[in-house]
Amino acid sequence: MSSTAGQVIKCKAAVAWEPGKPLVIEEVEVAPPQKMEVRLKILFTSLCHTDVYFWEAKAQDSVFPRILGHEAAGIVESVGEGVTELAPGDHVLPVFTGECGECAHCKSEDSNMCSLLRINTERGVMLNDGKTRFSINGKPIYHFVGTSTFSEYTVVHVGCVAKINPLAPLDKVCVLSCGISTGLGATLNVAKPTKGSSVAVFGLGAVGLAAAEGARLAGASRIIGVDLNSGRFEEAKKFGVTEFVNPKDYDKPVQEVIAEMTDGGVDRSVECTGNINAMISAFECVHDGWGVAVLVGVPHKDAVFKTHPMNFLNERTLKGTFYGNYKPRSDIPSVVEMYMKKELEVEKFITHEVGFAEINKAFELMLKGEGLRCIIRME
Ligand code: NAD
Ligand code: ZN
Ligand code: ZN
Repeated sequence: MSSTAGQVIKCKAAVAWEPGKPLVIEEVEVAPPQKMEVRLKILFTSLCHTDVYFWEAKAQDSVFPRILGHEAAGIVESVGEGVTELAPGDHVLPVFTGECGECAHCKSEDSNMCSLLRINTERGVMLNDGKTRFSINGKPIYHFVGTSTFSEYTVVHVGCVAKINPLAPLDKVCVLSCGISTGLGATLNVAKPTKGSSVAVFGLGAVGLAAAEGARLAGASRIIGVDLNSGRFEEAKKFGVTEFVNPKDYDKPVQEVIAEMTDGGVDRSVECTGNINAMISAFECVHDGWGVAVLVGVPHKDAVFKTHPMNFLNERTLKGTFYGNYKPRSDIPSVVEMYMKKELEVEKFITHEVGFAEINKAFELMLKGEGLRCIIRME
């Protein structure tokens, strides 16, 4: 038992007080974990574009004041009632979508959309009592996607925690807690390209480049990277991207450009931008007869997907996925093992590192489209 178990912990957290305003490092009180909850000491966290959307509050209606953050690695500090599978000292990755292990989704091999713990961006409280575990002078500070990792300590439902190999370096594998697993799984588990096939990846941020990495691992022979920022192309070569298309360089839709490059369309496409037009292009650029497109980007709340139904009749398939269809507790430990066996490199996704006090710098880098993942060191 740690000396802090059962006690309120006072620690630093980066609080988003209002949309689009720099986060403020505050002293917060973190209540002990309740039934089926665990309290984690976060050691490293990184910034994913989904945090930026909910900070800007453009994507959906958002909840403030809030502690954002969902890509992270840490150590279990204490566990609440009923938690048997985790103990203080375990090395873990918190995950924004959970796995209760008991619902129809958790029992299905095809789904990771747990009925109890699937992503919920509007809920800012814990399930057990409908309250927050964070407060400042008694005023509640809300949670984000059940993880809130921009805090030295956080409380998470046990079903949203993957216990991993204690030898895995937490400053590296933290990126597997969202972006890299999402992109990798979107390709390997959902798009499933075959050896020698062609794959288009829309958006060459960390998620898109992880999707490209998945295509490379699956043996795709052509990987076409699409981005509005040509500055992304040089970096993308390290991820097996073989050709580049900047839609701004053409006066026709990018789906037509890709169809011409590939004699009718790519075999698979994976969209990792969050932009509705890119989503439509990603669908319309797959080959008729067998093409499959997978949407990963988080859309604007008012977005509407519009395409001619003939595109479906002509035997194209459109899919979408959260977290690359991985179940956090069952599957993520083995993704960490892929890294440990050097089958998957994560270092190349990490381009920046800052101390916790400089967390706003990570936001600036992402808004400028500079680099891939920025690791935020909590200590
Ligand atoms: P990022 O900002 O690092 O990368 C996005 C890239 O897309 C940028 O390089 C940008 O220039 C490019 N882009 C934007 N609009 C484009 C367009 N119209 N055409 C082509 N390229 C365009 O972001 P990221 O962290 O890699 O995340 C990518 C997306 O995936 C975001 O929408 C994020 O919210 C989403 N996401 C989804 C899941 C999930 O489980 N479904 C998980 C993590 C992230
Ligand atoms: Zn994310
Ligand atoms: Zn479930």
